[in-house]
Order: sequence, then C-alpha cells, then structure tokens
Amino acid sequence: CGIVGYIGERDAFPIIMKGLQRLEYRGYDSAGVALYNKGLIELCKTKGKVDDLRVKAESEGVVQGNIGIGHTRWATHGEPNDTNAHPHYSNSGELAIIHNGIIENYATIKEALINRGYTFSSDTDTEVLVNLIEDIKINKQVKLGKAVQMALNEVVGAYAIAVFDRKKPDEIIVAKLGSPLAIGVGEDEFFIASDASPFIEYTNNAIYLEDEQMAIVRKGRDVRVRQIKSDAPV
Ligand code: GLU
Repeated sequence: CGIVGYIGERDAFPIIMKGLQRLEYRGYDSAGVALYNKGLIELCKTKGKVDDLRVKAESEGVVQGNIGIGHTRWATHGEPNDTNAHPHYSNSGELAIIHNGIIENYATIKEALINRGYTFSSDTDTEVLVNLIEDIKINKQVKLGKAVQMALNEVVGAYAIAVFDRKKPDEIIVAKLGSPLAIGVGEDEFFIASDASPFIEYTNNAIYLEDEQMAIVRKGRDVRVRQIKSDAPV
C-alpha cells in the first residue's frame, strides 16, 4: 500500500504513476488517482495493478492537472474492487482522500453519520473518515486543516492520509500515525509519498512526519507541520 501526491506546476499524473510504481514493493490489490483539473476533482480507480490504472486513466482522460493524489490499496475493510479502491470523495464531492491504515472505530462513526443523513458508496473505513472530516468542516465552520485535526482526534487506528478540497485546491493536508509519510520539498512544489523513492530525482529535501503529526502543504508557499493532539491553531 502506498501514497503519492504532487502539488506544483508540473503534470501531476506521470509523477504519481511513476511514484506508485516505485511503491509497488509494499504490496497492494488496487490503485487510484485523483487530479484537480479546472475546478473539478477527477477520479480514476481500479482493482489490479498500477499499469491497469494508467491504461484506464488514459482511456477515460483522467490525466490532466498540476495537483493530485494517488494510492495503492491493501484492502482491510471491504473487498478489493473498483468501488472500494481509493481515492474516496466526501458526500458533497468537494473532498477527496487517500488512506493507508485502519480506522478501528469506523462502524460507530459510520452509524452516527448515517443518522445525520450521510450515504456511503463503498465498504471502506476510509470513506467514513472523509465524511467525518466533511461533517466537522461544515458544522463547526472550520478550515479543512482544523477539520482534519478534529476528525483524527475522534479516530482510533492507524493512518497515513492525504486530503484535498476542490474549493481550495492549492492545499493538501497530510497526517500520520503508524503508517509512513514523507514530504519532498522542492522549489515552489511539493511531493507527498510513503517513502522518498517517488520524488528522489526532484529534491533531496524531505520532511518525514512523526506519529501524531499532520501538515498543511501549500502550493508555492510552505509546509506547516502541526501536532494532531494540540489545541494550537492549525
Ligand atoms: N483501510 C483502508 C481500506 O481498506 C486502507 C487500506 C490500505 O492501507 O491500503 O480501504
């Protein structure tokens, strides 16, 4: 299972595909990609190999964009199929998430969200997390970074995640507990990955998140690392 993300001026798709291939050694059963393109988050995912994803994405025309996230999944909740593959949208379609790890208390959170009117198209714990983030963001009227932090404080489990918002596409939020997450810092561009191998030819400058850390990665600006268990402003 692996995570790759890019935010900058280059074409994100080839960087993400090559990066996912370098993470194949970690094992996986499905793969997917989300690209921000002209106000939309376009998504393509499939059971199978990264090469299968590349063929599908090219045939569906999901290849454009300078901001994107990609994922290889090792199923823990829900069988390996196209629907359960990541990324997952929130109910509004505004947020997209990728996740490696397990949300142990997903069933309780899912039930509460269903009672609040949320619907789910996959069997994953991950789709529960992205909707918890959305629910907090809307109801508490907080920014995405704060909503992610608050959601993760309700969650029991392990994760490396990357989340982004169609309405604020110049920002990717990442967080880590248990699963690895590295951020490659280039000039006016940032890379996100499970290890440094996807961005090794672009930058030598890597930030490895510690457990219980999150980061707000802002295009053309900076990486702000924050503690998940902290009351300080995000
Ligand atoms: N628990 C998530 C799922 O089953 C993520 C699995 C992974 O680490 O790839 O979809």
